[in-house]
Amino acid sequence: MNHFEYGPEGLACEGVPLAKIAAEVGTPVYVYSRATLERHFTVFRDALALAGVVDPLIAYAVKANSNVAVLKVLGDLGAGADTVSEGEIRRALAAGIPGERIVFSGVGKTRGEIAFALSVGVAEINVESEPELDLIAQVAAEMGVKAKVAFRVNPDVAAGGHAKIATGKSENKFGVSFAEAARLYANASNNSSLQPVGVACHIGSQITDLEPMRAAFTKMRGLVEQLLDEGLSVERLDLGGGLGVPYFNSPEPPSPAEFAAMVGEVTQGLPVTLAFEPGRVIAANAGVLVSEVVHVHERPEGRKFLVIDAAMNDLIRPAMYDAFHDIRPVIQRGGEAVYDVVGPVCETGDTFTRDRALPPFTTGDLVAFMSAGAYGAAMASEYNTRPLVPEVLVDGDRYAVIRKRPTYDEILARDVVPEWV
Ligand SMILES: *Cc1c(COP(=O)(O)O)cnc(C)c1O
Repeated sequence: MNHFEYGPEGLACEGVPLAKIAAEVGTPVYVYSRATLERHFTVFRDALALAGVVDPLIAYAVKANSNVAVLKVLGDLGAGADTVSEGEIRRALAAGIPGERIVFSGVGKTRGEIAFALSVGVAEINVESEPELDLIAQVAAEMGVKAKVAFRVNPDVAAGGHAKIATGKSENKFGVSFAEAARLYANASNNSSLQPVGVACHIGSQITDLEPMRAAFTKMRGLVEQLLDEGLSVERLDLGGGLGVPYFNSPEPPSPAEFAAMVGEVTQGLPVTLAFEPGRVIAANAGVLVSEVVHVHERPEGRKFLVIDAAMNDLIRPAMYDAFHDIRPVIQRGGEAVYDVVGPVCETGDTFTRDRALPPFTTGDLVAFMSAGAYGAAMASEYNTRPLVPEVLVDGDRYAVIRKRPTYDEILARDVVPEWV
């Protein structure tokens, strides 16, 4: 459920019409609903509680939507943060999420990033390879601290909505292989600079079938039991993120309740706490991208292009993953026309959809890309020197710009022309 509904002034986010935000902030603009973010987090948390999962660490995956205001909304509800860079750790801290609720993941953590994570006392560094383990041990030894590490294990299970977001097969770059996990864990236990606290997996994103997750989690349970049998200490099993969301025409994903029930079954009686890293399921349907129609370009051969002021640099999912976003008129109207919806960027890939039946539009109309709260603004760039798309957070009848659109002067001021040029 989300809080984007049609009212007397067209499509609104909670109590604020999107047309009002477009008029005052300009387009393109991302708009997020605080109530929806909060609802998604509490539904996920309550489902786990109902399934008997005691006191889990729910570390929201910052990369899905990393605006500090969004992180603060979730952090204030008790969310932790799953981070993949020093920048994301800094964002989580800036939002008031304490180090002990921060998980540091990612396949290529640098020495500097590891030192920073250790200095702020993160809950665990998820180790993705043996060379990385060695580097963490070295940095911790130099700092005179004990690094809490969890091993991200690649369970060799296929899952995920698209090849570019599947991470759980051994051919993917993520995690140590299942076969070597126990040996590495035992080695780390004997290293005075390391404190292994658990094991982790994350097998992909936009997963709409529980069975691959059940298979991976069952393997992870077996590994935890093996480590415990070997007399090793295991405090936490981190089951990652990846639960899919409905993108309108996509397969219906399992509900958080169904996911939690499966987790409860698989982990029943296991004497460890659980961690989760949900991103998309929290943020995707809590945000929309609002854009204005620039032109309707009709070719004599019949194809109709809806040229809008948002582009692939603002929302890259359709270009990168062939992702589908429902596109709605901000002001409802009757009738139908078939469009290719395209942005102004000089790439054929700058096409949001082809042959989509939509209401008829004219120049100046507003459209909303639904389900754009995750992997939208966070993946935006300034390609074609288009100012970074701004973000707005709505709370009931009020809204605030939570990231402003940069001015052209600000953009140009970042470039430096050496005096010898
Ligand atoms: C991307 C990612 C997540 C979040 O995935 P969602 O599909 O957004 O839930 C969680 N954990 C790790 C390690 C990730 O890379």
